[in-house]
Amino acid sequence: MENHDNQTIKKVVVLGGGTAGWMTASLMKKVIGTAVDIELVESETIGTIGVGEATIPPIRTFNQVLGINEAEFIRETKATIKLGIEFENWKSIGESYLHSFGAPGRSSAFCQFHHYFKRAQQLGLKDSLWDYDLNALCAKAGKFAVINSKDPVLELPHAYHFDAGLYAKFLRKFSEKLGVKRTEGLVEQVQQNKQTGYVEALVLKDGSVIKGDLFIDCSGMRALLIEDTLKTGYENWSHWLTCDRALAVPSERFDKTLPYTRSIAHSAGWQWRIPLQHRNGNGLVYSSEHFSDEQAHDLLLNNLESKAIGDAKLFKFNVGRRKQQWHKNVIAIGLSSGFLEPLESTSIHLIQSAIVRLIHLFPHQGIVASSVAEYNKQSLVEYEQIRDFIILHYHVQQRTDSDFWQYLRNMDIPETLQHKIQLFKDNGKLFRDQNDLFLESSWLQVMIGQGIEPQDYHPIANNLSEAQLMDMLNRLKAIKNEPLSKLPSHDEFIMKICRN
Ligand SMILES: Cc1cc2nc3c(=O)[nH]c(=O)nc-3n(C[C@H](O)[C@H](O)[C@H](O)COP(=O)(O)OP(=O)(O)OC[C@H]3O[C@@H](n4cnc5c(N)ncnc54)[C@H](O)[C@@H]3O)c2cc1C
Repeated sequence: MENHDNQTIKKVVVLGGGTAGWMTASLMKKVIGTAVDIELVESETIGTIGVGEATIPPIRTFNQVLGINEAEFIRETKATIKLGIEFENWKSIGESYLHSFGAPGRSSAFCQFHHYFKRAQQLGLKDSLWDYDLNALCAKAGKFAVINSKDPVLELPHAYHFDAGLYAKFLRKFSEKLGVKRTEGLVEQVQQNKQTGYVEALVLKDGSVIKGDLFIDCSGMRALLIEDTLKTGYENWSHWLTCDRALAVPSERFDKTLPYTRSIAHSAGWQWRIPLQHRNGNGLVYSSEHFSDEQAHDLLLNNLESKAIGDAKLFKFNVGRRKQQWHKNVIAIGLSSGFLEPLESTSIHLIQSAIVRLIHLFPHQGIVASSVAEYNKQSLVEYEQIRDFIILHYHVQQRTDSDFWQYLRNMDIPETLQHKIQLFKDNGKLFRDQNDLFLESSWLQVMIGQGIEPQDYHPIANNLSEAQLMDMLNRLKAIKNEPLSKLPSHDEFIMKICRN
């Protein structure tokens, strides 16, 4: 690849004003400051995708770096608290488990909690792993407050459910205050340098020309710059993740809002329920090979717990990723960079980590091949790690009610995932791959929840006598349960924030 190192980057153009566009513009402006000018182009005629309501805890760091006040954010985006995701009917029909953002028990340096727990189970303990997880206990009790404790055992990591449209609006206001220029208009043509193919300018429908040195493609699934213009190519993963459509419809709010997302598996896909302050987000992710759009529509509408507001909206997608997320002077962020279905609410996080990566590798003095290669390498690893975690849910299960689940259970899976599963099956060993977004506690909960039983536990767990082991577990359970009686309900917490 050619170096383009004479061209100092002074002007960044962000194409798209969805969640990706405004997150990119706001964080880059906040962190890089006056060293670059940022102009964001968006078209109200096209609009944004309008879904993407569930997040994971790192979003809090994003907001903190911007200096956003949590209470104001919750009010403005009609947010609720998310402590994890409940997976219903995933292992088998009628069974459920929570993937909480917390961690069960307390792990020692050389022996994770679940080894002690496994030994206790073999001695007859009837508890579940989640009886030792504060996030799970609060989720089930419908309680929440920020706990200020230095003891990691009492951490209560949280994320949010929010209205995606309101979040983009919130960030737009914030970005414009920092000095980001917003231009409304439809991009109809892209001008490229004849020798290098680098993008030089966007031409709008009204004829105006927006020039730039670096272009961030946040144009959503259209991928106007990275694919339409630069023909970067796409790596398709739909043989592992076979769902290719989603239907989404909001419904009226419930009297009581749950502090977690619900993911309910059906015979050829799964349904989400996301509680917001003013409504519920609902959707069905499904395989078009097994469900017609009409069947999916009926299934979704018959499984709402409150009255639908408006018509259901259809989305078509191919799970996979752009072969190069940074190509020439274009970086794809958001849906233009690829699509992983929203089972673990990772897309908004992928936006966040892509911006952070870009800021670290920002080509102030011009684009150099080594930075591009590093960016693309890190992006690939990140996508693959999340892909594997999502496949785990589909592959490890005991459902026999449809071809969909049988295929997924019997298919070949990526070697990286096969190894992780085998290691855990053999002796309960779990390691976090470098930079993996999901910690050991996430892999543990999903592996156990989906039905993997390790054959053995680490012998360090035998260093305690039976009485010492049970005493340790009883004490831990008491510590984890202790805050519950003092915490307000999740609704009280939200109401208090909104009142103030
Ligand atoms: C069914 C579904 C459910 C999802 N649920 C979740 C979830 O729970 N959690 C999560 O993290 N993520 C979720 N996602 C992903 C999430 O919605 C996206 O990651 C997020 O909204 C970012 O979208 P975006 O900004 O890349 O694209 P978009 O919102 O589509 O924005 C594209 C922007 O580009 C502009 N544009 C396009 N073409 C042009 C043009 N020619 N000229 C000018 N402007 C143009 C548009 O006007 C728009 O402003 C979900 C996705 C789907 C499909």
